[in-house]
Amino acid sequence: MAIQSVGVIGAGQMGNGIAHVFAVAGYDVLLTDISQEALDKAVSLIDRNLERQVSRDKITPAVKATAMGHISTTLKLSDLGRCDLVIEAATERETVKQAIFEDLVPHLKPETILTSNTSSISITRLASRTDRPEKFMGFHFMNPVPVMQLVELIRGIATDEPTYKALHEVVEKLGKTSATAEDFPAFIVNRILMPMINEAVYTLYEGVGSVSSIDSAMKLGTNHPMGPLELADFIGLDTCLAIMNVLHDGLADTKYRPCPLLTKYVEAGWLGRKTGRGFYDYRGDTPVPTR
Ligand code: NAD
Repeated sequence: MAIQSVGVIGAGQMGNGIAHVFAVAGYDVLLTDISQEALDKAVSLIDRNLERQVSRDKITPAVKATAMGHISTTLKLSDLGRCDLVIEAATERETVKQAIFEDLVPHLKPETILTSNTSSISITRLASRTDRPEKFMGFHFMNPVPVMQLVELIRGIATDEPTYKALHEVVEKLGKTSATAEDFPAFIVNRILMPMINEAVYTLYEGVGSVSSIDSAMKLGTNHPMGPLELADFIGLDTCLAIMNVLHDGLADTKYRPCPLLTKYVEAGWLGRKTGRGFYDYRGDTPVPTR
């Protein structure tokens, strides 16, 4: 089946990036969220990000105009029933994702491929709650989506070969590169990245270093473009904590226990860039470390 229309659920930082790259690649994109404000914010952000690509000669003004014409929004999840491919990119909480799939499935065409952009949750378990585990896959984009080259492809235990091949082709059409991961907690990228970020938070918690010294040490000492705490703020501390909990629960190893300081920041609502404060305070002109 040729994929032409793509539904994206969740218009947060990942949802808007996913909508952006699909629209540029010529797909019709229907974006949904529970809040109209999130949808409006996403569309204006996509417009701004496309404009930045125009100013850097990465795309022409005509490509931008065509891409914007490919994007529409709706508050009704059932409207996504007509899409050929659906990508769920809502909050990293299993109950949220399960409820979305339960509401959506009765409206889907039989041939629609269903995917989740989850960073860590079992694809097999999410798929088993739908009517089409063989047409269900993990489709894990990286943040920021228009910039990052990788897409992780995760097959659930029941995913069939045509579904895998179809998504492999979609990644190529987006001009990105895929890496295939087995369906174990947090897959490849976050299985390796998130324990490092969690360890950076422990390093802060135990007073081994300050926010600035930890980030400078890792940037200058290991050539990482961003320090781990800066990166955690960029990803969202709620998402980082959710992923650590999935690793801890799923692999039952104490080496994955989330740092209590990470939990405390999330309890405070200091979720990083998206809320204006995390390991850094972003409310002024330049980010200021909060510890
Ligand atoms: P976010 O907090 O920026 O956005 C989540 C969006 O989902 C919000 O706009 C929220 O209103 C919406 N939402 C919540 N419940 C919904 C529902 N029932 N129906 C429709 N929309 C709903 O989060 P994000 O960073 O964009 O993460 C989204 C997903 O992408 C998560 O599964 C996360 O693990 C994954 N992911 C995140 C990153 C990252 O770096 N942040 C990277 C790769 C994958």
